[in-house]
Amino acid sequence: MTRAHRAVLSLGANIGDAAATLRSARDHLAADADIEIVATSTLYTTAPIGGPEQPDFTNAVMVIATDLSPMGLLSVIHRIEDLHDRQRTQRWGPRTLDIDIVTFDDEVLDDQDLTVPHPRAYERAFVLIPWLEVDDAAVLPGHGKVIDLVKLIDDQAMTPAGVW
Ligand code: ADP
Ligand code: MG
Repeated sequence: MTRAHRAVLSLGANIGDAAATLRSARDHLAADADIEIVATSTLYTTAPIGGPEQPDFTNAVMVIATDLSPMGLLSVIHRIEDLHDRQRTQRWGPRTLDIDIVTFDDEVLDDQDLTVPHPRAYERAFVLIPWLEVDDAAVLPGHGKVIDLVKLIDDQAMTPAGVW
């Protein structure tokens, strides 16, 4: 089936069995009638950036095709986060599951509830490196080629954590 839009999602978890949570999140995305998974990166273990002292994250990137609107996709993501006991208490705090919309087609949105491209994606190794793995021609709207952005990143500790 042809889907109208393409989006890049960043997934992360650092409470409980992070890999199991990410697998479950991927299953929920795949089960959504309006979403088709196009590509999935391998997992990476990454040191937390900002926020309180907290465990390392497990991260991955997925490319999806969807018929949803950006806000429709955001509400699916929130529902899946909630299904995994996501608490929204502390900004940049530890979380059972975080799913961010990195890009949605080439759209540039600055809504109260949704900024696309994600405003910090351009400087996050845990977004850019897994994204490059699944799309070596990736472009972040407003920022340029991901392969060039990666070269600008200061050291951010990341370790490959395998397939999932
Ligand atoms: P963060 O991911 O920055 O640590 P949260 O996951 O708690 O923070 O998200 C807080 C809010 O950010 C969400 O409720 C959502 O409305 C908003 N938001 C804005 N832009 C995006 C985006 N591109 N992807 C996901 N959420 C976003
Ligand atoms: Mg988020």
